[in-house]
Amino acid sequence: MDRIWEELRKLLEQARALEEAGILFEWDNETLAPPEAVEYTARTMERLSEMYFALMTGDRLGELLEQCGDRERPEEERAWIRQAEKKRRELSMIPAEEYGAYAGLRARASALWARARKNKDYELFAPALEEILTFKKRFAACRAAKGQSLYDAMLEEFEEGFSTEKLDRFFGLLKRELVPLLNRIREKGTEIPWEFLKGGYSREGQEKLARFLAEYVGFDFSRGVMGESAHPFTTALHSRDVRFTTHYDDRVDHSLFSVIHECGHGIYEQGISPLLAQTAAGEGTSMGMHESQSRFYENMLGRSRAFWEPVYPRLRELFPAQLGDIGAEEFFRAVNRVEPGPIRIEADELTYSLHIMIRYELEKGLAAGEISVADLPGLWNEKYEEYLGVRPKNAAEGVLQDIHWSQGSIGYFPSYALGSAFAAQIYGHMEEELDMEGLLRAGKLDVIRDYLRDHIHRYGKMKGSREILLEMTGKEFDPEYYVKYLKNKFGRLYGV
Ligand code: ZN
Repeated sequence: MDRIWEELRKLLEQARALEEAGILFEWDNETLAPPEAVEYTARTMERLSEMYFALMTGDRLGELLEQCGDRERPEEERAWIRQAEKKRRELSMIPAEEYGAYAGLRARASALWARARKNKDYELFAPALEEILTFKKRFAACRAAKGQSLYDAMLEEFEEGFSTEKLDRFFGLLKRELVPLLNRIREKGTEIPWEFLKGGYSREGQEKLARFLAEYVGFDFSRGVMGESAHPFTTALHSRDVRFTTHYDDRVDHSLFSVIHECGHGIYEQGISPLLAQTAAGEGTSMGMHESQSRFYENMLGRSRAFWEPVYPRLRELFPAQLGDIGAEEFFRAVNRVEPGPIRIEADELTYSLHIMIRYELEKGLAAGEISVADLPGLWNEKYEEYLGVRPKNAAEGVLQDIHWSQGSIGYFPSYALGSAFAAQIYGHMEEELDMEGLLRAGKLDVIRDYLRDHIHRYGKMKGSREILLEMTGKEFDPEYYVKYLKNKFGRLYGV
């Protein structure tokens, strides 16, 4: 028996080694690699992913998984086997020759998307999107259980257990509650001054602030690094090598909140049990739960009054010319200002989920064949007008603004909104267990981090997001927490 387990373990470790090499290349591409390297590196990555595919779909791995699956063994090893079986199942659904073709298509589509966005020309991208959609639908049809819709099968890839039935109710609630709240805020017309967040913030000062904040919220630099890239992201080889990036521009709040956000992702990865390290179960459990941790840090903690009480003096010290005359309360109000706009990644906390709702409605229609690729830009603009009261000026700030669809990520967007809602439920529960405001005022972020680690992080993929929520908060997923949190916070801020 042990010989079989040892053989299985070795194969899975080889697969993981290939994955880690891919992760490192991706990190390198986004941060340090010279521009001319791209083509050669892409070839290397293609060869690596072919080796990975062959290994994961090979007959020997299948036999070994079967022989090891039903034996008594520690919980972590069982989770590892379960996740490996899942990955194998997913990969096996794609014919080997299509695996390569799909990888090529994605690379091509992403490059086309970038060019189309630059030229504000949707027509340039539309044929590639059509191809991606066709592929995704075929793939979803292979995965779909009997009676399951194609979009539901696509959603499962990113967040298990959240079907369109559940999401329709979730987004329906957001639409009913948040659109009127936003309208009340707009009608009231209160202007919150924010101009001091812009202008003259030196790169050096911002980098100092980024390092200070990352450490302050609990990111461990002995097991992680911070870099720079055009679009901030977090990636991890394992819990002892977690990497995130930020991007500096003229607005101090951009990098600052992006750092706190990415540290939420990073702290999650650093908190996964060492017993799961380098296994298929040693990652955050789902996209939604991952996003819940980043948004918990960014919004529930980072955009609260209590958080800034001990920290704001440090910020002022770094930027006396810009913030010398600005009090903590003014700063708090400025970074929570509501301003509906066309761009998702620049959205404030209140309108963010409305951006996601629009994408959800469109994706659902695309997968069902009710919306065509040609209809997208028009419908996109109409929905922005209806929910947010803004109309994108061109395709670049409209339908072409996100990279996701070009990469084949259809069904991914809802996890952003779910993450915000998970975060609100987790925060609501923690307020009952801990004196959250008191801890923030005292700068005891470690207590908060350890609580999250105990109840969420350490499990990796051993538990699913719904199970974690239920065990931690004693309740199934309940989006009312999120609506209540937003109504409270922004109702008070704007007096509506
Ligand atoms: Zn994130």
